[in-house]
Amino acid sequence: MSVLTPEQLAIKQAAKDFVAQHIIPRAGEFDRAGEFHPYLLEAAKASKIFAMAVPKEYGGLDYDSVTQALVLEEWGYGCAGMGTTLAASILSMDSVLVAGTDEQKRRYFTPMLNTEIGAFGLTEPGAGSDAGAGKTTAVRDGDDYVINGSKCWITNGGVATVYVIYALTDPARGAKGLSAFIIERGRPGFTIGTVDHKLGIRSSNTVELLLKDVRIPAANLLGKEGDGMKIAMKTLDLARPAIAALSVGLAQRALDECVKHLQKRFPDKPQPGQTLQFKLADMQIQVEAARQVLHHTMALRQAGVPFSKESAISKTFCSDVAMSVSSQAVSLMGSYGYTSELGKYMRDSKIMQIYEGTNQIQRLVISRAVLAPAPVAVPALKAGE
Ligand SMILES: Cc1cc2nc3c(=O)[nH]c(=O)nc-3n(C[C@H](O)[C@H](O)[C@H](O)COP(=O)(O)OP(=O)(O)OC[C@H]3O[C@@H](n4cnc5c(N)ncnc54)[C@H](O)[C@@H]3O)c2cc1C
Repeated sequence: MSVLTPEQLAIKQAAKDFVAQHIIPRAGEFDRAGEFHPYLLEAAKASKIFAMAVPKEYGGLDYDSVTQALVLEEWGYGCAGMGTTLAASILSMDSVLVAGTDEQKRRYFTPMLNTEIGAFGLTEPGAGSDAGAGKTTAVRDGDDYVINGSKCWITNGGVATVYVIYALTDPARGAKGLSAFIIERGRPGFTIGTVDHKLGIRSSNTVELLLKDVRIPAANLLGKEGDGMKIAMKTLDLARPAIAALSVGLAQRALDECVKHLQKRFPDKPQPGQTLQFKLADMQIQVEAARQVLHHTMALRQAGVPFSKESAISKTFCSDVAMSVSSQAVSLMGSYGYTSELGKYMRDSKIMQIYEGTNQIQRLVISRAVLAPAPVAVPALKAGE
C-alpha cells in the first residue's frame, strides 16, 4: 500500500510518462554527444516542470517537498544528466527562496514559468569544499556593484538566463565577507568560459563563468552584505535531498536494467542461482532504504522542522547507494555492462558523491550533529505526574 496521496501518485505517473516519452529515448544520444540539448526545455514546456519549486504566488506549481523528490527520482531514472539540469535550476532558486525579497522572487522565478533555467555559482578554482576561500569580489559603486572573478564547474552556466553568484563584498573577513547576488545573463563583462568534459552526467551543461567588471544594480543583492555563507549553507540544506532523489532514480534504473539483461542473458534459467537472487535482493533493499531516508528528509523539510543532519544523511546515503548498486549492476552484467550504454549509470553515479558538498564534507556535518546534538526541549514534570 502506498502512503502517497492520490495527487502525489498522479504527479509521479505524469513524470514517469514524460521521462519515458522524452528522456529515456534521447539520453544515450545526448550522453554520447557530451552536451546539453535544448530539446529538453522544449519538451518540458507543456508541463512547466522547471517551475515545480516556484511558490503559487509567483505562478509556479509549488509542489510539496515529497512530490518534488518523486519527480526528481523519475528524472534520475531517465537520465541523471538531464535530471541534474532540473535539480541545478532548483538549487539556484533555493537561494532566492531563502533570502530574496518579494520583488527579487518575482523577477527570478518568472523565467522558470517559461521553462528557462537558473544556475548557482559558488565554486571557484581553489574554493570548492572551502567555499569561503573564493576570490571573486563585488565592490559597491553608487547604486551598483561591480563584480570581478570567475566560477568553475557551474551546472547550467552556459544555458541559464538567471544566476545566483556568490562574491566577497569584504575580502578581509573571508567567509563572513561573502554575499549573494542575482545576475541576469547578458550583462556586459559576463562571459561563459570553457565547457567541461565529464566522466558522467554528460548531457548536463557544466562551464566556467568569467566576470570582468560586471555591473549589476545594488537591488540584486540577496539579503545583506556578509549573508552569503549563511544563504549558501541554507540553500544547500534545502537542495541536497534533490541529489538524493536523482541518486535513488539512478540506482533503481541500474538495478532494473540489470534484471532485464540477466533475464535475457539466461533465458533458460528464470530462477538464477541463489547467490545472484540474494545479490539482487540486497540491491533492492539498498534502493528502497535510500528512498525511505529521502522521503523522511523531505517530510521534515515540508513540516518546517530542522533537517540539516537528515539532508546531509540523505545525500550521502542515497549517492553511496547509487554508486554501489550501479557498480554491482555492471559487475553482474559482465563485459556487456562494461561496454554497453548501461555503464552510463555507474559513470553518472560518481558525481552524486561529489557535487553540492562531497560526501566527506557531509560526514563532517553529520558528525558535528552527532557529537553536539541540538537540545530536545522536554517539558518539566509537574508534581504528581
Ligand atoms: C559536474 C559538476 C557540476 C557541478 N555543479 C556545480 C554548480 O552548479 N555550482 C557550484 O557552485 N559548484 C558546482 N560544482 C562544484 C562542486 O560542488 C565542487 O567540485 C565540490 O564541492 C568539491 O569541491 P572541489 O572539487 O574543489 O574539491 P576539494 O574541496 O578540493 O576536495 C578534494 C577532496 O578533499 C576532500 N576534502 C576537502 N576538504 C575536506 C575536509 N575539511 N575534510 C575532509 N575532506 C575534505 C573532499 O571531500 C574531496 O574528496 C560542480 C562540480 C562538477 C564536477
